[in-house]
Amino acid sequence: MTIRQFWIDPYQSRLRTRVGAVAGDRVTLESTIFFALSGGQDSDQGTIGAIPVLEASKDGFEIFYQLPEQHGLAPGQEVEVAIDWPRRYRLMRLHFAAEIVLELFLRVLPGVERIGSHIAQDKSRIDFAWPENISPLLPEIAAQANAIVASDFEIRTGFDDEPNQRRFWEIDGFSRVSCGGTHVRRTGEVGPIRLKRNNIGKGKERVEIYLTS
Ligand SMILES: [Zn+2]
Repeated sequence: MTIRQFWIDPYQSRLRTRVGAVAGDRVTLESTIFFALSGGQDSDQGTIGAIPVLEASKDGFEIFYQLPEQHGLAPGQEVEVAIDWPRRYRLMRLHFAAEIVLELFLRVLPGVERIGSHIAQDKSRIDFAWPENISPLLPEIAAQANAIVASDFEIRTGFDDEPNQRRFWEIDGFSRVSCGGTHVRRTGEVGPIRLKRNNIGKGKERVEIYLTS
């Protein structure tokens, strides 16, 4: 099982490790900082041994990296892994912005069902099954979210269930949530956010979240 260094230190952008298994164009690593799409958070972009990673994917407890076919890496070989840090940091900030906004929606609309989410580097979004237009709620939710950001609360993370690789984040007095993404250490890092409603069809509501700094 790949050691998920991105949980131990989500701010690490370079790592020396060894190649695990090699199967054609797919390799695994002994340890990794390179996040693979999960929980709606996009995969990182970057290199393994200076070779560009074409796709990162999770399969059970393992993470696979697809490289160009003539990559030449061998099992056990020492490599340096590097990720596009400015991109990852935006993903982390937009991820936590979405965490805050989701928690606030769950309070304002008890029983609302989240039917999708996506965190990309320009914006994040959350989709809800809800019969009414959420626009009237947005100013208050944005104000509350920005107050949480301005309060610069500490975000603690850890394992709920280490054998099954289940993680959580927690802000004392606010919320504790299961999530395997990469999280910033303090809410202030998110910076001010802006919300926008998007119409995605009957019975569905989408809120888009943008960073303003
Ligand atoms: Zn999360």
